[in-house]
Formats: sequence, C-alpha cells, structure tokens
Amino acid sequence: MTKQILVLPGDGIGPEVMVEAIKVLSCVDEKFKLGLEFSEGLIGGCAVDTKGEPLPAETLALADKSDAILMGAVGGPKWDQLAWDMRPERGLLGIRSHLKLFGNLRPAILHPALVDASSLKPEVVSGLDILIVRELTGGVYFGEPKGIETLENGERRGFNNFVYTTSEIERIGRLGFESARKRSGKLCSVDKANVLNVSMLWREVMTDLGKEYPDVELSHMLVDNAAMQLVRAPKQFDVIVTGNMFGDILSDQASMLTGSIGMLPSASLDANSKGLYEPCHGSAPDIAGQGIANPLAMIMSAAMMLRHSLGMEVAADAIETAVTAVLEQGLRTADIVSAGSQAVTTQTMGDAVIAALAAA
Ligand code: NAD
Repeated sequence: MTKQILVLPGDGIGPEVMVEAIKVLSCVDEKFKLGLEFSEGLIGGCAVDTKGEPLPAETLALADKSDAILMGAVGGPKWDQLAWDMRPERGLLGIRSHLKLFGNLRPAILHPALVDASSLKPEVVSGLDILIVRELTGGVYFGEPKGIETLENGERRGFNNFVYTTSEIERIGRLGFESARKRSGKLCSVDKANVLNVSMLWREVMTDLGKEYPDVELSHMLVDNAAMQLVRAPKQFDVIVTGNMFGDILSDQASMLTGSIGMLPSASLDANSKGLYEPCHGSAPDIAGQGIANPLAMIMSAAMMLRHSLGMEVAADAIETAVTAVLEQGLRTADIVSAGSQAVTTQTMGDAVIAALAAA
C-alpha cells in the first residue's frame, strides 16, 4: 500500500533542507520498499508570491488527502511588512489549525558527538534527552478577541487573549502522560499558575488527569523557573508538557542545549496521529541561498514522520542511526562546527546520511 506525503518546502532555507530530506526518504523508500509517494504544495511567502495568499486552497486540499505532511519553513523579511492575513506565518498557523494539529512533539537530544557544540558545559548536558510536548492550536496565539485599537485619548492598545478550555488542556495533557509512559515515566507540566487564571485551570486539569496515570510521576513548574532550570540542570527533565507560547520559547531554548536549532526536528499531530513534520528552526534568511544550512533537523523530522504517522519504525530508526553515524564521522555544518574545523555544505551532509544508510 502506498503512502501519500505532501511536501511543502516553503521559504528561505526550507527548500534547501527539504531537498536533502527527500533524498534520504527516497533512499529508505527503496531500501525498505515503503511505497512512499510525494506531491508538492505551496505555503508561506512563496505562496503569497505565486498565488496571492499564504495558504492556498489547493494546499489544504492536498493536505487533507495526504497521510502526512513534511514542511520546511516559512517567512522572511520580504513579507514582513504585509498585513497579518497575508503574512507567511499565517499560512503555518492556518494549516496547523485546519488539520487540528494540537500536539507538538519537540525532542531535544544531544548527540554524544556534539557535546562540544552545546553552549553549556559537557557535564551539564551530556546524555541530554528531553521531549517537549507543546499545545499547538490554542492559547494566546489563537485566543479571541485580539487586535490593535486606538483609544479615545489617541493612545494605541494591542491585545491578545490567553485562553484554554478544559478539553484543550486534557487533550494535550493526555499526549504528555502517554509520551511520559513510553519513556521514563516523569512528566513536568509547565505553567504560570501563580499569576494567570488560564494557568490555574491548566494546573487543576493536569493534576486531575494525573490520577488516571498513577504510573507517571507528575510535577508542576512555573515557566520562569523552567527557563532557568533548563540551563542550570536540564537533565532533571524527561517530558515537559506546556501551552503554545511557553512551549514555543522553551523548545527554542532547549535547542541550544543540543548544539544548534538546526538539530531539532518536530512533529505536530492530530487526534489520529496524522501529522505535519518540520524542523523547529525558521527560514533562516541570513543564510538562505548559500547552501550551508544544517539539513539534519529536516532529515530527522522525516524520520519522525515515518515513526509517528506511517508506522515505519525500522526505516525511522535507520535514518536516526545514519545521522548519528555521520556526526561520529566528524561531519559538521557551519552551525555546529568547532573552531578551526572545516564546515561541510547542506548537500554534503545529506549525501553523507545517504552513504551511512547504504553502508548500514
Ligand atoms: P530562524 O530559526 O530562522 O533563525 C535563527 C538563527 O538560527 C539564524 O541565525 C539562522 O541562520 C540559524 N539557523 C536556523 N536554522 C538553521 C539551520 N538549519 N542551519 C544552520 N543555522 C540555522 O529564526 P528567525 O531568524 O527568528 O526567523 C526567520 C524567519 O523564519 C522569520 O520570518 C520567522 O517568522 C520565520 N520562522 C518560521 C518558522 C516556521 O516556519 N516554523 C519558525 C520560526 C521562525
């Protein structure tokens, strides 16, 4: 049986890293006879340029028909001045919301070969393996009302609404507990319950849910403390579950522990494990077009897609093992290279992963 994959390269370095991920997927497709079929669509700035909108209806129709979606990144200075509805990021939020991708899995794993690329001391980070489970379709990024208004006195006022319903919290909470169950059985729920009503409800619901998962050790932490603990002693965490904005910020912070944001894959899942897979990084306009971006986050996102949406665990493991092998061979793109060493290009890194797959 074939599996349909929608490929959305996007903007900036998105298309550059996507080429490498598709090469790697084609290689495992052939090796393990997976029956992968690819179609391509537009999202973000490239869709604004060619179709006049960041998320064309054709893209959504292709997404609905596919088994999984692989995305590069969207955005860039070229589109920063457009009205909000025309902004590339609107396309990203739109597809997440259309597909009801409420659960975002962001693993932050430090490969042993990259201990020196981390901004923290080796003894603090070596062996790091954290999973951040972030709520993706609610919270302050989606809450209504929102806007910028002019008050009677002429002053302007911007506002967003930070809201979560019980069912939204329960849904992401369950994903957090289930994920913790598959790992060490430790779950830390991050909120701001000392100040925000929405977080007080979050904590209450998580605590109640915890009674259904007696085998999982649940703890709660305020987000400011969590940010501090992530750089002080990150290995105290195993699975973190949190809301949309807190998860956005904490997962970027966690990325630096692993050496580079170019190393962090992510999965965004619906209730039936259909998912959109993308690197945690953005379109990196500062390095776009130079062929120097790290493709490993994109390649590992493809591995997550095989595992979480397509049930192709063996092929997913093979890709991750090949990534570890190339890092152990010493290959480094510019973002993870150590001083005095030579950085390889995006393409060379992709080719090396394929060679490692072939050699396995
Ligand atoms: P960014 O992640 O694009 O870049 C941050 C820094 O990390 C830059 O110095 C960049 O060169 C570097 N970097 C990122 N990915 C890399 C890779 N694979 N290899 C090597 N270096 C890498 O974040 P930003 O600069 O804040 O945002 C740039 C644009 O991307 C903005 O328009 C933003 O809205 C958009 N963005 C999109 C997404 C997404 O599509 N999911 C996520 C974040 C930001």
